[in-house]
Amino acid sequence: MLEYVDTHAHLDMAEFDADRSEMLKRACDNGVKTIITTGIDIPSSQKAIDLAAANSGIYAAVGIHPQECTGVTEADFARLDILSITDKVVAIGECGLDYYRDYSPRHTQLETFYHHLDLADKSGLPLIIHCRQAEEDVLKILADWSAQSPAGEGKGVIHCFSGSAETALKYINMGFYIGLGGYIGYPSSKKYRADFAAIPLEHIVLETDCPFLPPQPYRGERNEPAYVPQTASTLAEIKNLQIEEIASATTANARRLFRLDK
Ligand SMILES: [Zn+2]
Repeated sequence: MLEYVDTHAHLDMAEFDADRSEMLKRACDNGVKTIITTGIDIPSSQKAIDLAAANSGIYAAVGIHPQECTGVTEADFARLDILSITDKVVAIGECGLDYYRDYSPRHTQLETFYHHLDLADKSGLPLIIHCRQAEEDVLKILADWSAQSPAGEGKGVIHCFSGSAETALKYINMGFYIGLGGYIGYPSSKKYRADFAAIPLEHIVLETDCPFLPPQPYRGERNEPAYVPQTASTLAEIKNLQIEEIASATTANARRLFRLDK
């Protein structure tokens, strides 16, 4: 069976409380045997770690989401530092900037984002970046940061990427991967499909962002990791490749980026 990695899920969320173990079994049955569950604040980062500890194949990312950083304290940052060195934590995030509706003040978002960059340096872990209507700032900040941090690939992923192919190449040249989710199959995503046709496969990883952003056949419902193959199938069409090639490349990319084989 083809094997996939869901590089961005929120398995701790209440949407999964009623059927979390069945949902994980469905993922496994569909070949999605490895999932990175991503924190959005301190409590959800802790829950991500607990889920990783209890389930083989689940790994955790710890971070404070830009929409969740209002009122963040030094104590929160200190707690995050401690969480980052816990077993099965493979990434820092999700973190970044979100200027859509400005849920949190921009200066707080920036301070929080910079803390995550420092933590990535300290821990040596890749970043999971959220960028919404903030591309200019994120590009500039990551360009400055990646120029100073040790050279090489595997600095992180731009999750739920919705920029141009040209922007994707800028991130790739800095050492980042490009995260693709179920939104690629939406009728409104025609432009993204053209962009992803031009983004090199060896720098793409698959994700769900579940419970959010279900693929087209499940719109209006809850998303879950079992739907990753849908996204792979759409990407196969876009790139005119066999789904086997998409599965093996994106799985190898995810394992390399998040050092899952170490
Ligand atoms: Zn997310």
